[in-house]
Amino acid sequence: MGITKTDFMRGIQCKKMLWLDKHKPKLKVIPPEIQMRLDAGNDFGDRAMGMFGEYEEMTIYRPGTTIPDKKAMAERTQEHIKMGTSVICEAAFLYYNNYCAVDILRRTIQGFDFYEVKNAPQVHDQFIKDAGFQYYIMNRCGLNIGHIHIVTHGEDEEHPFVVNDVTEEAKGYSNWVNDNIWDLNRMQKQTDEIQIEPGEQCCKPYECWYYGYCHDGQLSISDISKSNDPLN
Ligand code: SF4
Repeated sequence: MGITKTDFMRGIQCKKMLWLDKHKPKLKVIPPEIQMRLDAGNDFGDRAMGMFGEYEEMTIYRPGTTIPDKKAMAERTQEHIKMGTSVICEAAFLYYNNYCAVDILRRTIQGFDFYEVKNAPQVHDQFIKDAGFQYYIMNRCGLNIGHIHIVTHGEDEEHPFVVNDVTEEAKGYSNWVNDNIWDLNRMQKQTDEIQIEPGEQCCKPYECWYYGYCHDGQLSISDISKSNDPLN
């Protein structure tokens, strides 16, 4: 398998992080508050699927697991594109084994727009880079993508979604994705562990789940800030 959007973003933050994901994933320690945020994000994403009315969802799991069957999902997506389905959720694409699944792919007169749903009050640069990776894969798969959107939280339950157009910025990341994707593909397959000194990348833009492993079992940054918190 090549790399996914998540692999790409993690590999850009730190190559060793991606290498550990592939070779020593059991060393990962996901803080409970982060896991809660990830779960809440999934719920928000599920609700957003219906924002344009009826839709077809492409998710297929490997038998007896909750692991997505990427190949089957990509094939199903192609069937729905050929059938003219208007709104395709979890639309999956494979390009030389590199994979992406977009939250909502919506047919337009010229081609498609897509929407990435983020459980956040505003758009961050990381979200636009994410969308740039997805645009790169879909564009290389021959899809005509018009507009690219990030969906964030609305102000209340009556207005749950805000649609932010990030087309220009996301498409602008295409060359950057191409400059990195093949190196990350090669690197993740190497057998020797990548040697990288811990540094700023361990906490930016996200705190690394291998923090303890690379810092000789030290507490993570969030644990340190909690222990320094007078209210804790
Ligand atoms: S803790 Fe730092 S050096 Fe280690 S994998 Fe994570 S980001 Fe890379």
